[in-house]
Amino acid sequence: MAVCACGGRSVRIRRRFWQRAVYQSVYRCKACRQVTTNAKRSQTPSEFSACPQCGTTQLRVRRKVDRIDTLSTSLVSRLKGLLGAELHHCEFCRFQFYDFKKVESAKENESQLGGVSQDSRA
Ligand SMILES: [Zn+2]
Ligand SMILES: [Zn+2]
Repeated sequence: MAVCACGGRSVRIRRRFWQRAVYQSVYRCKACRQVTTNAKRSQTPSEFSACPQCGTTQLRVRRKVDRIDTLSTSLVSRLKGLLGAELHHCEFCRFQFYDFKKVESAKENESQLGGVSQDSRA
């Protein structure tokens, strides 16, 4: 499964007790005895945007801030907004925040209807 940088085959070896806490698996190369480790991954996948209030990934992308719904006042969210992050809206707690991560459920209703074909050359 694992291949060492030297081209030799690495075999999985038994982890020491402290390695079990930190590493998912530990390999040792048969040729050069180089030890390779795989760090444990966090439980929650973080590639998708999640609501900072309720934690759901059922979000929608918005183009404009809805004044009725709550907008995140956190500095991180506001900074992301200034840097051009997408405005995400939680359908459960009606919370709005800016995030660079993708929305898991690609329900981009608003952006699909609008048509983003803006030609500046006019
Ligand atoms: Zn090796
Ligand atoms: Zn929420």
